[in-house]
Amino acid sequence: MSEHDFVALTARAAEWIAAYRARLPGLPVLPVLQPGDVAAHIPAVPPEKGESADNVLADLDRLIVPGLTHWNHPGFLAYFSSSTTDAGIVAELLAAELNQNAMLWRTSPAGTELEERMIEWIRHFVGLPDGFEGVIQDTASTSSFVALIAARERAVPDVRRRGLAGREDLGPAAMYMSEQAHSSLEKAAIAAGLGLDHVHRIPVDQLLRMKPSALAAAIETDRRSDRTPVMVCATIGTTSSNAVDPVHEIAAICRDLDVWLHVDAAYAGPAAALPEKRAEFEGWDDADSIVLNPHKWMATPIDCSVLLYRDRDAVRRSLALTPEYLRSEEGGTDLMDVGLALGRRFRSLKLWFLFRSMGTGGLRDMLRWHIELADRAAAWLDADPRFDVVAPHPFSLVCFRARSPDGANPNDWNRRLMHAVNARGPVFLSHTAIGGRFTLRLAVGSARVTADAVGTACRLLGEEHDRLAGAG
Ligand code: PLP
Repeated sequence: MSEHDFVALTARAAEWIAAYRARLPGLPVLPVLQPGDVAAHIPAVPPEKGESADNVLADLDRLIVPGLTHWNHPGFLAYFSSSTTDAGIVAELLAAELNQNAMLWRTSPAGTELEERMIEWIRHFVGLPDGFEGVIQDTASTSSFVALIAARERAVPDVRRRGLAGREDLGPAAMYMSEQAHSSLEKAAIAAGLGLDHVHRIPVDQLLRMKPSALAAAIETDRRSDRTPVMVCATIGTTSSNAVDPVHEIAAICRDLDVWLHVDAAYAGPAAALPEKRAEFEGWDDADSIVLNPHKWMATPIDCSVLLYRDRDAVRRSLALTPEYLRSEEGGTDLMDVGLALGRRFRSLKLWFLFRSMGTGGLRDMLRWHIELADRAAAWLDADPRFDVVAPHPFSLVCFRARSPDGANPNDWNRRLMHAVNARGPVFLSHTAIGGRFTLRLAVGSARVTADAVGTACRLLGEEHDRLAGAG
């Protein structure tokens, strides 16, 4: 492709994006299809000869778009969103052209040092003290896994060489997290060789926050029976309901009992930048490590997860490994030493573009707007006798249930209501279980969300509730 053709193609791609954006609000958020429908239209083998970009772009519209769940749709109110701004899109395009792989300082001095600066910018934005350094990973799952590997190294200093299995000198290594913590921590325990049997799910109080006394008791019991406590994970903004563990108290326990404290603030972390939300983050600056995901509530296209840690050496000791062919002598930071992956994308570019296009003020405005929209939805649901808001909403997630008609099973009723609302097209809600009961979630957090979309969700909930009730 000539330079001229490339410029024309990227201009067409930009036009394609503009046209997609224009029709996006009119598309259903969820596609209507069955598993296998998309693959059925894509050949099982690649083409022998290259095709024109026109053909491929036409097939993007014909085959792919109808099979998309539109994460950038203003009505995407499910899970936690991952959305993007123009800055993020342009940064991704440029990152692909530059194709940096900052595994060693030498392989991308700018990629390495921009990443280090972006970690400082994030730390500054969310008000964490100087002692924290960090690294950008793909997802919170990877970030928490790396934290656990570092914590394991601190608790079992020879683990790198000897592993955990079959050791007569070592009881089982254990991890602690609330019943509400994210499943990625359990996956980390599987991958790090702790095993699910040694993940303690600490009970929660009525507000779904970890009970510190139960945590202390579990760690002390384990120590008495020769187990090795490795890591506690506290969550600020649980996935299910946005519960906030009492990190301040948990940090004191971890300090007294000498256990690594990891804080999972994958979704809620950016809200620490809001003075009025600081109370939710009390004590997090005592953590050994913290994860927050710009690709959740900070308008950054997936993937981008920030892992912050106090003890860089612990992370390096656990994972640094340099074969001869990767040895270098310049002395800069080699980011391959603080993660599992060797090759890594130029993710810092999108944070740099984001911060510089929105400024910290713009990001704070966005977070406040999302909180306001969630508060509005909660107020509407609270005021409507057909619905109950069932958990506090400190950030931008509202958990609620519909009241079911006499004789109907409340869980089935709420499930049917959610599917009925989602089938209407303009919005997408997801669910969780709270206290064993099926609960709907309305999560605001996309850079593309609108007041109209949130209002539509409330209206459709009411309409579908009445329709189902009428249908009996
Ligand atoms: N932690 C929390 C609190 C989450 O809500 C999620 C995902 O929603 C994760 C971790 C996992 O995030 P990721 O998809 O980046 O691995």
